[in-house]
Amino acid sequence: MKILVINSGSSSIKYKCFEMPERTVLASGLCEKIGEPGGRITHRAAERQTKIEQPFPTHAAALEKVLDLLTGNGGALAHKEDISGVGHRLVHGGEAFSASVLIDDEVIAAVRENIPLAPLHNPPNLLGVEVGRSLLPGVPQVGVFDTAFHQSMPPEAYLYALPYELYRTSRVRRYGFHGTSHAYVARRAAEFLQQPAEQLNLITCHLGNGASMAAVRGGKSVDTSMGFTPLEGLVMGTRPGDFDPAIILYLMENQQMDAAQINKLLNKQSGLLGLSGKTNDMREIEALAAAGDGPARLAFAVYCYRVRKYIGALTAVLGHVDALVFTAGVGENSSAVRATSLTGLAELGYALDPDKNASTRGTEADISAASSRARILVIPTDEEIAIAEQTYAIITR
Ligand code: ADP
Repeated sequence: MKILVINSGSSSIKYKCFEMPERTVLASGLCEKIGEPGGRITHRAAERQTKIEQPFPTHAAALEKVLDLLTGNGGALAHKEDISGVGHRLVHGGEAFSASVLIDDEVIAAVRENIPLAPLHNPPNLLGVEVGRSLLPGVPQVGVFDTAFHQSMPPEAYLYALPYELYRTSRVRRYGFHGTSHAYVARRAAEFLQQPAEQLNLITCHLGNGASMAAVRGGKSVDTSMGFTPLEGLVMGTRPGDFDPAIILYLMENQQMDAAQINKLLNKQSGLLGLSGKTNDMREIEALAAAGDGPARLAFAVYCYRVRKYIGALTAVLGHVDALVFTAGVGENSSAVRATSLTGLAELGYALDPDKNASTRGTEADISAASSRARILVIPTDEEIAIAEQTYAIITR
């Protein structure tokens, strides 16, 4: 059964077509600069890459071209009717969705209601759904939410100590993100350990360009580092993670910064980029630090210190941890980040095997020392496969 997975952004559409349940990738690609000059699609199928450069005035025009590429000469599909289901990555389900859903008009209305919570993401996500429905009429469309996995958090974890009215009337609370990834690696970790997920306490560390951690008890998220938006928690490529919110007031009053400038500061100019003054890319930070660049060393240190602090916090949340899981670009590949983040945590139950850590890159592995109370795992994430699996499960049930 062919499942198309779509991640529709404001000017881009990322897609991957799978044969399910085998999980074979038939084709994948990225349309960029939709509605802008310089539109292009990079399409991969059967180890062949095709580049199309032409303007795509709308998401519909871009997806129509993707369907042509999927079904064209030597394409992955004979007809677009071969697609049995479309899985959409949807960022914000608010409190309305604690699992993936078959999309109908009611679901669309509920996602639309959450636009104020994710003004940059939900509208283009919805556009992807609308285009999917119109170009593939009758094909079931499934919504997989970034927030859904964290809906199992208890109130003490998701409430901020702000006036309760703000939660009731304005839905101000912690939602958490990267849920599809945290859920996927938690499940894979249980499989790797050959233990039932229901019996495991896990800390999952998704360290990519965006970064978050989750405490997972018995397969359910009970706390996470991201909050009302993806700004909170760990240091990220260009976001600061935790900082005193009064800094915003200070900057507004003393530096005359307005909301747009603060938004740019916090989403685009902070994190590794802000601290190093050079790059948001951890590979480059590591190379600069190794060459003696002071700001890059500081950025690396602040990043790893924050991870360590959250490991402590989430260990306290769970009480007992069976395994700590590293995933995403940095977590899967950077032995230096893993080693530095876990420095001094042997007493807390986390001891790395230095050789296993150094030799593990992008593959599933147990990198803990025999003496470590908790297992320390590297589990590559795959959000597209996770979306394809959930789409398949929903349309075949
Ligand atoms: P996104 O959040 O955009 O999906 P990824 O999960 O792909 O991000 O992670 C991107 C990050 O992973 C970048 O900061 C990149 O530098 C980092 N990364 C990838 N490979 C390595 C590596 N070998 N060593 C250190 N960092 C790496």
